[in-house]
Amino acid sequence: MTSARKILIVEDERDILELVTHYLEKDGFRVRSATDGPNGLAAARHERPDLIVLDLMLPGMDGLEICRKLRADSATSLTPIMMLTAKTEETDRIVGLELGADDYLTKPFSPKELVARVKALLRRAERREDDGKALLYGSLRLDPVRHEVRVGKQEVTLTAKEFGLLEQLLRNQGRVLTRDVLLNSVWGYDYHGTTRTVDVHVRRLKQKLPLLEEAIISIKSLGYKLRDAGE
Ligand code: CA
Repeated sequence: MTSARKILIVEDERDILELVTHYLEKDGFRVRSATDGPNGLAAARHERPDLIVLDLMLPGMDGLEICRKLRADSATSLTPIMMLTAKTEETDRIVGLELGADDYLTKPFSPKELVARVKALLRRAERREDDGKALLYGSLRLDPVRHEVRVGKQEVTLTAKEFGLLEQLLRNQGRVLTRDVLLNSVWGYDYHGTTRTVDVHVRRLKQKLPLLEEAIISIKSLGYKLRDAGE
C-alpha cells in the first residue's frame, strides 16, 4: 500500500479528538473525523477508511449501533474498528462477536498506545487481505477463498490435505519446509500421524499436478522445498 492509510475518528469529546488526530497524523496517517453518531456512520460509508476509531457514547447514535450497522454492510463489514470506552463493564460486549469491534481502549488511554494498537489492527487486516489472494506458480493458480486449483483453465480436484500442502509450499517458495512444520500447519498439532504421511501426500500431489514433479524438491532427511518460480 503506497498511499497513507486513512483513519476515521468518531468522537464527540474535542480534547480527545484533537489529541488522537495529532498523534495519528504525526505518524503519517490521513485522518477524517466526525463528532456525532449519524455523521460518523455517514463518513464511514463514503470515506471508506482503512480503520475506524469509534467512541462508544456519542450523540445521535451510539458506537455499538454504528458498529452493528457497519458490520451488516458488505462495504464496511471487514473494516477494523477500535472502540473507545469509558465504561469497563461494557468491554465484554464490545469485543463480542455479535457487535464485532476488533479491539477497544478504555479512557483515559495513552495516545501512543492507541497508535500502536491501530497499527497492529491494520497489520492484521492486511494479512487477512493477503491470505485471500490467489497464489500463482507458472500456469498453476490456487484460490484460497474459493478453495480451487487450476492449471491453465483446467480445474484440478485435490483433497483438503493436498490442497493445504500445496498452499503451504506456494506460500513458502524457495524455502525448505520440514516434515514436522508441514504436519503441524496442514494436519494440525493434535495430529499424531507420522512424517511419512507428508511423503505420501507429496507424491499424490505430484501425480495430480505433473508440472510440480520437478519443482517440488525433496531435501534429504529434512523436508520439501518448492523451487522458487523465478529460478
Ligand atoms: Ca463520548
